[in-house]
Amino acid sequence: MFYKNIVLALLIELGLEDLAKYPFIKEAGEYIKKLNIQIEDLNHPDYINIIQRAKERIKDAINKRMVSKEIQKAEVDILSFPIALLIVRMCNNDYLASIYSLAEAIRIEEFLKYERKSIISHIFKTVLNIDVIEVLEDNLMHQFDYKIKIKEYLKRSTQFHELEWKLINRVVNQGYVYLKTHELIRLIREEIRKIIYNRIKNMATPKLPKVIEDAVSEISGMVQKLIINKERISSTLTPKNYPPCVNYALNTLQKGQNLPHFGRFLLSTYLLNIGKTVDEIIQLYPKLPDFNERITKYQVEHIAGLRGGRIKYKCPSCKTLQTHGLCFKDETCDEIKNPLQYGRVKSKNKR
Ligand code: SF4
Repeated sequence: MFYKNIVLALLIELGLEDLAKYPFIKEAGEYIKKLNIQIEDLNHPDYINIIQRAKERIKDAINKRMVSKEIQKAEVDILSFPIALLIVRMCNNDYLASIYSLAEAIRIEEFLKYERKSIISHIFKTVLNIDVIEVLEDNLMHQFDYKIKIKEYLKRSTQFHELEWKLINRVVNQGYVYLKTHELIRLIREEIRKIIYNRIKNMATPKLPKVIEDAVSEISGMVQKLIINKERISSTLTPKNYPPCVNYALNTLQKGQNLPHFGRFLLSTYLLNIGKTVDEIIQLYPKLPDFNERITKYQVEHIAGLRGGRIKYKCPSCKTLQTHGLCFKDETCDEIKNPLQYGRVKSKNKR
């Protein structure tokens, strides 16, 4: 292919393989820009592999919820990323945009787990503006890989409800939280997902060459089938007298949009406490971009006290939900401290 011969002075530290692993970074964009490819060029047979790979990325997201890590040709992988974004954009379906952005974020997370430390620091700094400091072998904390400022840690860890993420359970020293590589990487999945999602949403909608139009109708057909299946499963949802925060969580699930972990925790604890079964709750989740039945079952059973420490979790208080940005109070909420009180107060006020 003709773009193979282009010499890139900017690839000093990051090789083509790195750009293929992290195609959302600035350097990958610069690489593509230098190729000066016009959208109508995509009809040329030279690009067939790239378009195939772009479709494969999206199909992986739909079928496996994670884009494959296999890189056969770095150039093909790099170029297939913006084309996949374009196809997703032109499908104009929020559910697809959500599952695709999450599947790409998970792929990136998998690469980062085993990445060179210099690249991890570079990506954190240039993409997320976080200073990640490597813990050296001679440091007393050498059992950890990195440290980040407490405020950076807290900004991200509040999305997790597991006890291990609470600051009190972390090793903290002189204003820094110490982390293993996999913990550091897990912290930023949601941010990477949002970057990719916003890129899709903000993309222009150009006139498409035939080859992309065909890809858009193929993928749109797949998504429609998927949505019909999911709707069949979750059509049992009929919330009445639920508090606004719970309805917000349910609506988010219905739209197939990503619900933060604490929102899932609220929903599961609330519904378990009003007598819903584990199975009934699991049936609400299939539209989630990262739905995995086995993991969801495990998590809901854990919250119900059927696993692990056998503690049945309580529904979080309104105050806690406010700090997580999950409170959407109405006038009934003025009289309560916990979402579980909402139904009773609402019925009383109606009388
Ligand atoms: S006040 Fe409580 S019940 Fe009402 S929306 Fe906020 S968190 Fe939910």
